[in-house]
Amino acid sequence: MPRFIFVVGGVLSGLGKGVVTASIGYLIKKSGYKVTAIKIDPYINVDAGTLRPTEHGEVFVTEDGGEIDQDLGTYERFLDMDLPKMNNITTGQVYLEVIRRERALEYGGRDVEVIPDIPNEVKRRILIASKGYEVSLVEIGGTTGDVENLVFLHAARSLAMEYPSVTVMVTYVPFLRNVGELKTKPTQHAVAKLREVGIFPDFIVARSESGLDEPRIEKIAKNCFVKRENIIDNPDLDSIYRLPLLFEEQGFTDKLLKKLGLKRKGRDLREWEDFVRKIDEAREKVKVAIVGKYVRYGKAEHKDVYLSVLEAIKHASYHLGAKPEIVQVFSQDIERMGAEEILKGFDGVIVPGGFGSTGVKGKIEAIRYCRENDVPYLGLCFGMQLAVVEFARNVCGLKGAHTTEIDSKTPHPVIDIIPKQKELIEKKMYGATMRLGSWPAVLKKGSLVHKLYGKEVVEERHRHRYEVNPKYVKVLEKAGLLFSGRSPDGNLMEFLEIPGHRFFVATQAHPEFKSRPLRPHPLFLGFIRACLKRVPSSRRVSSRGSKRA
Ligand code: GLN
Repeated sequence: MPRFIFVVGGVLSGLGKGVVTASIGYLIKKSGYKVTAIKIDPYINVDAGTLRPTEHGEVFVTEDGGEIDQDLGTYERFLDMDLPKMNNITTGQVYLEVIRRERALEYGGRDVEVIPDIPNEVKRRILIASKGYEVSLVEIGGTTGDVENLVFLHAARSLAMEYPSVTVMVTYVPFLRNVGELKTKPTQHAVAKLREVGIFPDFIVARSESGLDEPRIEKIAKNCFVKRENIIDNPDLDSIYRLPLLFEEQGFTDKLLKKLGLKRKGRDLREWEDFVRKIDEAREKVKVAIVGKYVRYGKAEHKDVYLSVLEAIKHASYHLGAKPEIVQVFSQDIERMGAEEILKGFDGVIVPGGFGSTGVKGKIEAIRYCRENDVPYLGLCFGMQLAVVEFARNVCGLKGAHTTEIDSKTPHPVIDIIPKQKELIEKKMYGATMRLGSWPAVLKKGSLVHKLYGKEVVEERHRHRYEVNPKYVKVLEKAGLLFSGRSPDGNLMEFLEIPGHRFFVATQAHPEFKSRPLRPHPLFLGFIRACLKRVPSSRRVSSRGSKRA
């Protein structure tokens, strides 16, 4: 029988509920239990695949091809496990299924109603995803008081009547500078809102800028009817990876286990502590540019559009004793000011996944700068496709070469749509139809990627509609580009590199999704290692026009 830990949020969004959930999951797992984690997103989108990254952050891809909220990526990193797409439940999925069943007369002619039919379907999905696990964490997205997440809270309340459960509420305690005081009122209101749906939180994880003080803990406890020792302090941290240790220091794991009626069967946090020690001890700086278009939105700089890429860089850097300084470079700035001007201070450059034409010119310029100046380059998905475009134009002399995603009339479609994808697009079938999930690739013996992975067959996650046009493979290879990894049938180019370059590697896949704090990804390790060898800026030349492959 599963036991549930529900994580809900109050006051405002963006508090890091995902990291709280993931940290709890890690601690319970290390206590000797089989743990899984589920994310509920109250939006009507069936999955995150159709969401604009600038508004919603990264679209995470699971092994089985789910296009998912980024929180699932955080769970995978902390729990060090692959989660299936069914662990992300959205309002859209729930309604789609209830309506399908109604049309199929599966409700036998009775009224189908929001309550209880919607929470019932939510419960059914939670129970399926929890099957085989001893403890199931369920994070309910959104903020308590929102209309959207009401049915999910109903489902949680109902499950809590049938299974041993605890509820953790994550809230925010702001510090008002003008009065010099932490304010607990928003937390009190949020808890009151939760009580309206019949849920009394067992724990409050209070987020704040620099930690709670004694009077505030007392006040939250008294006014929210939560035991004093169950108010967990969660100040802003310089690294999210410290959170499990901070929770452990406060005895959170033992308190949760006790509430769930479970005994601790282990407590081996050594690996995690070693990793956090590496963060503390990292000295040598490594400066990496991520060149993309999803960098700013209004006044804000995005922190989570390239989340998995950021984390993968951190994992690899810390393991190599380096402190990463990661700058998200707006590719249009490169178009305005030139690649050299913007990138000269960086030890390495990444062009991550992307769609559409905005900023493409700048990305291509960034790639050219890396290729010509022996600056480490890692291309991820779109970053591989544009590396092929750059090479075709500037090394092979194929004027106007492009991806047909951007220029459908290019004389040299070096990147072209996968034929099956064309049909889907023509039928306007956009949702969940890309080439998705884990696919194997066979690496060329003796290539750099083969050395980095240390094996011949690798599996990485994908999310794309376009691919290297097989017609151009020969001409590209003749000019010095090596396709060092292909699909097992040899038709799809999955990895490329430029032999002789310090580090110029790109892949059609998204290796960032598989990097874990305790198991950094080999491609990122290779990239950061190359960055640490540094190319002094003074040795870089802006060799426009030169063709150094
Ligand atoms: N837009 C490209 C494609 O669909 C690349 C996608 C990506 O970078 N994830 O093929």
